[in-house]
Amino acid sequence: MDGATDDFFHDDGAGPYAHCPRCGGSLEKRIVFSRDPPRLVCADCRFVFYLDPKLAVGAICRKEGKIVMLRRAIEPAYGKWVFPGGYVDRGESLEDAARREAREEIGVEVRLTRLINVYSYTGRPVVVVVYEAEVVGGEIRGGEEALEVRSFEPGDIPWDGLAFRSTREALQECLRGPARSGAGTLDGRRE
Ligand SMILES: [Zn+2]
Repeated sequence: MDGATDDFFHDDGAGPYAHCPRCGGSLEKRIVFSRDPPRLVCADCRFVFYLDPKLAVGAICRKEGKIVMLRRAIEPAYGKWVFPGGYVDRGESLEDAARREAREEIGVEVRLTRLINVYSYTGRPVVVVVYEAEVVGGEIRGGEEALEVRSFEPGDIPWDGLAFRSTREALQECLRGPARSGAGTLDGRRE
């Protein structure tokens, strides 16, 4: 998402959408399968417009034990701290997307060291996959989306100034370290 300006509307998939992407006809909410929620269906060509989740990736980048974060220069969460991340392009691997975001947003090459977790929330369109990464090259500098970039000791993370719920939860999980086998359960996660 680097290089974007605020002239654009960054769609997170939450809609609403009025027109069919195939023919430009009007979209209407209709029951397609009786057990499913209503879908957007084109009144003209019958195209069913599924509102899929929107996939994002993040990389908690570490250098000499510190965590490199940027302060967002764009909405949403302008001025808040976050690790590099953004939407995955269609056809791009998650790992490539994570490395690309680190390069674009804080100027570094990273080696992904582990998958932290996948974050999804009821009613929210965005699903975030977060990796832990080690800085292996480049020079730390903020891209166009950063007001500033700073490296934090784990004890100095600005918990009250983080951008998103997934930012906080991923950092917490990252700092807890890898789960031992059988130690955790995904079923117990709070909604
Ligand atoms: Zn149509």
